[in-house]
Amino acid sequence: MITLSYNQESLEYDAYALLTSFYPGIETRQLLSEEGTGEADELHIHAEEDGSCRLFFRAGAVFDKDREYAFSPEREATEGAPGEEALRVLKWERKRFFYDCFADYSGRELPWGGLTGVRPTKLILGTARERELSEEELIRFMYEQYRVSEEKAKLGYRIAMLEDGLLDPFRSGGYSLYIGIPFCPSTCLYCSFLSYPIAAFRKKVSEYLDCVETELAALPEIMKGQAPDTVYIGGGTPTALSAEELERLLEMVRRLIPASGKNTQGLRFRLQTGSLREFTVEAGRPDSITPEKLRVMRKYVVDRISVNPQTFKEETLRLIGRHHTTEQLCEAFALARSEGFDNINMDLILGLPGEKLSDVEHTLSRVAELGPDSLTVHSLALKRAAKMREWVAEHGQISGLDYECAMKMASDTADALGMKPYYLYRQKNMAGALENTGFAREGKYGLYNIVIMEEVQSIYAIGAGTVSKKVFTDGSGRIERCDTHKDLSLYLSDIQAMIERKRRLFGEG
Ligand code: SF4
Repeated sequence: MITLSYNQESLEYDAYALLTSFYPGIETRQLLSEEGTGEADELHIHAEEDGSCRLFFRAGAVFDKDREYAFSPEREATEGAPGEEALRVLKWERKRFFYDCFADYSGRELPWGGLTGVRPTKLILGTARERELSEEELIRFMYEQYRVSEEKAKLGYRIAMLEDGLLDPFRSGGYSLYIGIPFCPSTCLYCSFLSYPIAAFRKKVSEYLDCVETELAALPEIMKGQAPDTVYIGGGTPTALSAEELERLLEMVRRLIPASGKNTQGLRFRLQTGSLREFTVEAGRPDSITPEKLRVMRKYVVDRISVNPQTFKEETLRLIGRHHTTEQLCEAFALARSEGFDNINMDLILGLPGEKLSDVEHTLSRVAELGPDSLTVHSLALKRAAKMREWVAEHGQISGLDYECAMKMASDTADALGMKPYYLYRQKNMAGALENTGFAREGKYGLYNIVIMEEVQSIYAIGAGTVSKKVFTDGSGRIERCDTHKDLSLYLSDIQAMIERKRRLFGEG
């Protein structure tokens, strides 16, 4: 275990985020302390009033030597009252110092340098625009300011430029609709989403759909009759519902979703005329996909689905608690194609327990044989998932995978399938300190994914454990949020309060 101590609370966030990126999966305790504890494996940070600070590594089982680093800001914080810009500069100067210390101490660099936020492409696009930088200048700036590698800065720039064009129609103040269905066939080892095993919660499903219907019925009034630009039904696994339940859900979406302007002919009409730009259902688990459910989705003009292998190694599937085989995955994919789905995404996870580069290679070759329209490649996040934490405590290291090499292999496969990287995000505690990247063929980009990641328009979110987001389009960059209860019983019993939260968020201004 590592102890991270600091004498000012303001040091906590940046130091902790970098520490967990350089030393992922190692338990860390944090404490506010003037001089630190002096114990083994402690990193103590001591800041002074003038903005200077010192960093001490104390040797132990994780840190292999004692070492001290010192930092003085270019402009002393005591030279008059520092303005907002000066504080921002100081914060980044200090963060760069932390990063350089970690890199020097560990002998490693991180692909994304000192960037710890989840939306690097948003930052890249904003920086390129604000400073009017060419690609070359941007790459230099990203290194000098944040220590981002040339490869990642290039990737981020390429994606940011592609997204910029795709996002144009979404900048004028519309919104996208998200509906969360928090049920799954079983719980995956790494799951950090809201997910209830459907067999145990079967009796609650009808009541849950009643609540979704109540929420949907309130939407037209709250959003003043405006239709959403995209609809995304996720979870959980929406196809964990029976075909009848799924039809009930999709029928209510079609019936209750507001129509924009004079268009009153429902979802089908809007999809055909192009005013609803995308309708996705996260089918996700192959063991939940049946011909009936696929037909129901076609009937209600769902135009994008996911069929997610995560891996093509049977042993790993069993280990991570996904009760399906690779054969079922291939059958579900073929079935979806035969039912006419021409925009199918596949999710993969790099770094699943025990997996090596040869397993990743095998998975990618099977994906290439199937030929999905888009591919989302995740690096395993060692985060809140309770089951995963237990697994790590019992088995230790999850995987000795060379993540950069695995990500490069995935990117090459996507390239060979005619796909481009089109969206990217990062999470805390990501294995390899890498990123999750979405690749897609031209015209098959998951628009909702970009919209939510780049925060260009509001998200109206329905269902337990969802977060609605109001993005102000007045140029201020202001974003306000409201959530719903994660606890299923609370959500079911408090539905009117959940609606009122959204009425307050979206109703004014
Ligand atoms: S399918 Fe997704 S939401 Fe369901 S348990 Fe697995 S990771 Fe969680």
